[in-house]
Amino acid sequence: MRIALGGLWHETNTFAAGRTTLADFRAYQYAEGAGILVRYQGTGTELSGMIAATHAAGADLVPTVFAGAVPSGIIARAALDDICASFERALASGGPFDGVLLVLHGAAVAEGIADADAHVLGIVRARLGARIPIAATFDYHANLGASMVARADVLVGYDTYPHTDMHARGEEAARLLIRMIQTGARPHKAHVKLPLLTAPIVQRSGTKPLSEVYARLHAAEDGPGIWCGSIAMGFPYSDIAELGASVLVYGDDAGKAEDVARDLAAALWDVRHDLSPRLVPVPEAVARAIAASEGPVVLVDAADNVGGGSAGDGTAILAELLAQGARDAVVVIADEAAARAALTAGEGGAFDFPVGGKCDILHGPPVRVRGFVRRTFAEARYRHVGSYMAGYETSMGAAAVVDADGVRVLLTTRRTMPFDAGQLLSVGLDPARQRIIVVKSAIAWRAAYGAVAKSFIEVDTPGVCASNLARFAYRNRPRPAYPLEPDAVFEPAPNPHAA
Ligand SMILES: [Zn+2]
Repeated sequence: MRIALGGLWHETNTFAAGRTTLADFRAYQYAEGAGILVRYQGTGTELSGMIAATHAAGADLVPTVFAGAVPSGIIARAALDDICASFERALASGGPFDGVLLVLHGAAVAEGIADADAHVLGIVRARLGARIPIAATFDYHANLGASMVARADVLVGYDTYPHTDMHARGEEAARLLIRMIQTGARPHKAHVKLPLLTAPIVQRSGTKPLSEVYARLHAAEDGPGIWCGSIAMGFPYSDIAELGASVLVYGDDAGKAEDVARDLAAALWDVRHDLSPRLVPVPEAVARAIAASEGPVVLVDAADNVGGGSAGDGTAILAELLAQGARDAVVVIADEAAARAALTAGEGGAFDFPVGGKCDILHGPPVRVRGFVRRTFAEARYRHVGSYMAGYETSMGAAAVVDADGVRVLLTTRRTMPFDAGQLLSVGLDPARQRIIVVKSAIAWRAAYGAVAKSFIEVDTPGVCASNLARFAYRNRPRPAYPLEPDAVFEPAPNPHAA
């Protein structure tokens, strides 16, 4: 059994400034050939799950290309074409193959190509023909479209947000691929798209109401005749026709798969009114955090969600912490110029520099931070110690910790998703000892600080990942869609184009 392994992973925020280039992929996750095995084996990723399951089955795994970038603006067409060309070369030279395993996201958008994930699948399908099975994973935030479903034999989505089951989903996709290779069987597909848009901040999988919908999904998966099922909650900041939630079920027969998909879609639609965010204005949120009897209090700046494509340099909460004289507060700001200024000043040196608010006009103006430099790092790196991509190493680039009367600002060169406590621990800041931690994240911060946080406040900040979707000027999204058209109606029906 000879199986090709590769993928493209990007969550594209089409409202974010700038293009995502090949350099952005190379700076975050880019590996070719055996380098994929070296880098990902034994990590909490889809790739590690796929590697483990194919090795356990005694299959011959041929790693090709894997490219992933931190969520950001639209993918430059040249970058997508370059990655696809590398992928095609590897498929051409490494074959013949009995099957293909891909790691995809499902919310990748490139210039001129609204569904970049379907584009990648199309290239693989065109090269290998209709008979070779293709299995792929996709993110909880996928805007699954009919083309993507049609071009793969099996797609397996994450069941968790915060995402902690990537390894397991990678294993599952690999097991299903091997089953297709060994038996020649292919499952029937049922894909039901809902006219439902939700912000990440309300998409937590482990609490009601979504925990109950997921319990229903898992019960169906345990039943006879169902291969697997997924719910894609969608990524509301990709302004494309495929935007929105959907349910995808694979089964031995079409009728059974469609019944399960319809039932799950109806269950999700029924709880739509409970999927609205409740946000606290910035001044009130900061005042409450300062007055809290015990910390740390997490202030959630979801509008500047680095993991959703934002710049990570939003200043709304930082400015208010300084104005209200907060103590033992920590904020991470991606600002290369400010980080360099701190490195130049050196440890113990005075710092007086405008911080953040430089990438666009949506995340507040730069804030003048005056204080001293506590720590500097020519390159700050950390290995993930928590449940998100455990074992994986992240680099923040050159970085510094600046102290402004007890408000500690971690200035980084690279945007870094706050999904692991190592981000603060590695620069000498113990999360448990802070009174206030600002996270530029919607939900996934819980994987890093959920265990130490005494409370959290979801703050009404501005930005390209704002939870109030009425802030965005959509041009391509489906209409009507709840909640922007509150009277939208829905009759669950499988999409015939996905078959
Ligand atoms: Zn996601």
